[in-house]
Amino acid sequence: MVVVMQAGATERQIQAVIDRMVETGFDVHRSTGAMHTVLGGVGGRVQEIDTAIFEVMEGVKEAHRIASPYKLASRSFRPGGTEIIIGGISIGGGEVVIMAGPCSVESRDQINRSAELVASTGGKVIRGGAFKPRSSPYSFQGLGEEGLKLLSEAANANGLLVVSEVMDHTQIPLVGTYADILQVGARNMQNFNLLRELGRQPKPVLLKRGISATIEELLLSAEYILAGGNYNVILCERGIRTFETYTRNTMDISAIPVVKKLSHLPIVADPSHGTGRRDQVAAMARAAVAAGADGLLVEVHPDPDHALSDGAQSLRPAQFEELMGQLRMIASAVGRSL
Ligand code: PEP
Ligand code: MN
Repeated sequence: MVVVMQAGATERQIQAVIDRMVETGFDVHRSTGAMHTVLGGVGGRVQEIDTAIFEVMEGVKEAHRIASPYKLASRSFRPGGTEIIIGGISIGGGEVVIMAGPCSVESRDQINRSAELVASTGGKVIRGGAFKPRSSPYSFQGLGEEGLKLLSEAANANGLLVVSEVMDHTQIPLVGTYADILQVGARNMQNFNLLRELGRQPKPVLLKRGISATIEELLLSAEYILAGGNYNVILCERGIRTFETYTRNTMDISAIPVVKKLSHLPIVADPSHGTGRRDQVAAMARAAVAAGADGLLVEVHPDPDHALSDGAQSLRPAQFEELMGQLRMIASAVGRSL
């Protein structure tokens, strides 16, 4: 940590900061400049320290943490990156993994048709919510266990893996019975009880970025799962809320290279929630693969005009097929396969 004193800070003020740093466990290295005194703190339990405690001390100009507040999620923990192997597929390696399907599981026919499409175009994972976090309590809430059964039957018939959302820690055993990857939705990114429980079980977790979460907050949420012993965490950029109204969310493509630099964890992109509109999904999907995403989570529906949730952002089957062809070319242009 580095504390920069204000120009003209008194010796008493400087000493008070040094004392506080030593108390907190740092070895202090002092550099006295013509204008500013800079105090470098080495060691110490920097992850647990709020730099604000130094910033509010008299005579302090600013305080910065040099080490990141997360340890296990940090790139330095595994500089080579993490590859997650699940039932024969690998996420975070050379292949861009496509996870696609409807927002919600609605019926046997709907999910079977979706799974056939995903498998026939080269997708590896079928998505579909059985427990849906809806903004309104009056909207379709999902089919629950029946939906999970339909989803896993459709997946098995087509050689796909399953990703589905778990909304609450009490649902982990049930969703884990049917799903290969447990999805944590944007609204639950900081549901710390859920994250802790997911850390204590072995299934891979797809952790979506919260609607208003910073990248650092996303990585700290991942840290909860890693700290419990489950290192199989896939991050997901799904758009954040900004002042823009033409899109449902603002798809933060830049989060992909930023996360790649800060963390060893794989990151996938969800251009469906990221834009909220079918006509914008393909462009953001292509951009995400070009930017280095390890996979995509895409909503596609056999009949999106009659979808029970997120129809407007769900691709039509023909659009999805076309997109898969384009993604294959982009993946190869950036040294990946699909
Ligand atoms: C979903 O994937 O259908 C979903 C609800 O996503 P998010 O949590 O990103 O809104
Ligand atoms: Mn959705």
